[in-house]
Amino acid sequence: MKNQYYKNTHDRNFENFKYVYPVISRRSGGLSLGINLNPDKICNFGCIYCQVNRNQMSKHIVNLEILEQELNIMLEMIQDNSLFLHERFQNTDESKLVFKDIAIAGDGEPSVSKYLLETLQILQKFNKLFHIPKIVIISNATGFQREKTKEAFKILALLNGEVWAKLDAGTQSYFETINQYSTSINKIIKNIQDLNPQVKLQIQTCFMKVNQVLPSTEEIHQYGLRLKEIIDVRKVDTVQIYTIARDPAEKYVDAIPLQKLKDICKPLHQIDIQIDYYSGSAN
Ligand code: SF4
Repeated sequence: MKNQYYKNTHDRNFENFKYVYPVISRRSGGLSLGINLNPDKICNFGCIYCQVNRNQMSKHIVNLEILEQELNIMLEMIQDNSLFLHERFQNTDESKLVFKDIAIAGDGEPSVSKYLLETLQILQKFNKLFHIPKIVIISNATGFQREKTKEAFKILALLNGEVWAKLDAGTQSYFETINQYSTSINKIIKNIQDLNPQVKLQIQTCFMKVNQVLPSTEEIHQYGLRLKEIIDVRKVDTVQIYTIARDPAEKYVDAIPLQKLKDICKPLHQIDIQIDYYSGSAN
C-alpha cells in the first residue's frame, strides 16, 4: 500500500508545469518540490533501474523565466497551503504533507546542465522570500569538476544546501553494469571527494537484483572500500541505501526486500558512518 502511494504521488507532471513538480518523496519523508532541468529526458548515465520514460523526449531548451514563474507559483501554493488540497494529495497521509525540500533532479543529470547555475541564482532569490527548508541536488557526480557547476555549488553552500551523490557500485564492472557509463569509477570517486567542502554530502546507493542475482559479497566489500575512500577525504552526513521503488527501465531488474537489503549490507556497519535504508516495491 505504501509503495503504491509513493507511486501515485511521484509523477513528474503537474498541471501544465514544465519544470517544477511536487512529489511525496520516501527519502525526503514528505513533500519535495522537484526541478527538472532535463525535459529532453537525456542523461549521460543509462542506469538499468532508471524510471524515466525515454520514449517521450522533448526539446532540451529550459526557459528560465518560466521555471522561475512555476517555482514562484508552487512556493506560494505551499505557503498558503493550497497545494496540499490538490487532488493529487487527496489520499496522502497527513504526516507526509510537510514541505521538506526543493530537489534539483528530474530526468537527466543536473551537474552537467548549463542551467544549473542560473537555477541556483533563482533559488537564492526565492530563499529570501519564502521558507525553503532545504535545497538538494541529486546527482551522479559526473559534472562536479566543471567550473560553472562549481559556481553553482558555491551558491548551494551559501544556502546551506546538500548534494546527494549517486554511488551504486564498488567495482568498475558493476558500475558499468548498473549505470551503463564507461568512464572510470575512480573519476566519480574523485569528483565526490573534491566536492566543495562547504556543501553537505549524502551518498545515495541503489542496490537491486539483476537477473535475480543480488550484489555479491565482494561487491559490497568493494563498495565499502569506496565509501572509506570518500570519508577519508571529506565529511559524508549519511549514506542512503535503497532499492527499486518504481518501474525500472529494464525488466531484468528487481527490488530487494528491505530485510535482505539490510542483511547484505551488514558488513558496511563496520564503517563509521550513518546508513539509512529505504524499502522499495518488494515490501
Ligand atoms: S543518473 Fe538518474 S536520471 Fe540518469 S539514468 Fe541514472 S537514474 Fe536515470
